[in-house]
Amino acid sequence: MTASPDVIEDAPKAQEAPLPSATLGGDSKRSVEQIALLLFITVPFIALVAAVPLAWGWGVSWLDLGLMVAMYYIGCHGITIGFHRYFTHGSFKAKRPLRIALAIMGSMAVEGPVVRWVADHRRHHRFSDAEGDPHSPWRFGETVPALMKGLWWAHVGWMFDEEQTPQHKYAPDLIKDPDIRAVSRQFVLWTSVSLLIPPFVGGLATWSWQGAVTAFFWGSLVRVALLHHVTWSINSICHAVGKRPFKSRDRSGNVWWLAILSCGESWHNLHHADPTSARHGVLKGQLDSSARLIRWFEQAGWAYDVRWPKADRLESRRKESAAQAA
Ligand SMILES: [Zn+2]
Ligand SMILES: [Zn+2]
Repeated sequence: MTASPDVIEDAPKAQEAPLPSATLGGDSKRSVEQIALLLFITVPFIALVAAVPLAWGWGVSWLDLGLMVAMYYIGCHGITIGFHRYFTHGSFKAKRPLRIALAIMGSMAVEGPVVRWVADHRRHHRFSDAEGDPHSPWRFGETVPALMKGLWWAHVGWMFDEEQTPQHKYAPDLIKDPDIRAVSRQFVLWTSVSLLIPPFVGGLATWSWQGAVTAFFWGSLVRVALLHHVTWSINSICHAVGKRPFKSRDRSGNVWWLAILSCGESWHNLHHADPTSARHGVLKGQLDSSARLIRWFEQAGWAYDVRWPKADRLESRRKESAAQAA
């Protein structure tokens, strides 16, 4: 229960495996990890591509679709509310059970251990679209071919970069937290749970192997692929196109057509203009399911000190020219 700043020094766990354990996500990626990463990216993607023709033939039930949607939004909100708004930016405070639940839900999105995710994302904000940003689509220049290459880089290529974000430098607060360190180390476990829930439920509900297989295909593989691409689209698409009503020193844009799928994260221009805001969709009609859930957590007493957007703060961040659009 003691979480003093020096606890990391004498914690036995921290000594036996400082950081480079694969499950915590070491600072450099070894070849085994690179191969695992490649598999986790390509297999669900192939499933996604195969999904459409399969859907016309055999093997998709309402149960499969229900599992896909439910698991999608559990992982998506784990990332947006947990990994992003809470762990990276501290846009609210959470009681311990909620903090652990958010770390687990986010891990179930299969986007890497929480400590690595947060370190990468904090570096992204520090250097957004400048030298040092791990995933800027403008990395290779401004011409159309350079942007095409950059979009690919921002979408997936950056994850294979040998140079990794130093986690002790960017996420010392999380490394110090024993609960979060544990969940981060257990990444393989939560990935397995995430992939096995759909076939388990599908198999039991239909009492058949086919039910387990189709639920795994839709609820695990297709769902993971879709969520990966939506998350990565925030790094690629939302830094290349979109409206920019707020002042930010980068190319972040608000992309309305990704709002529902991204759980409100595609209002990315506001996010870079005011990174600690618990709500990203601050303008009229901007759907933000993550903000809605944070509000419910607050009402339930699980979240507190929420940084809700304030009118004068927002106004000071608006571009003059955008004033008439309000
Ligand atoms: Zn960004
Ligand atoms: Zn952010």
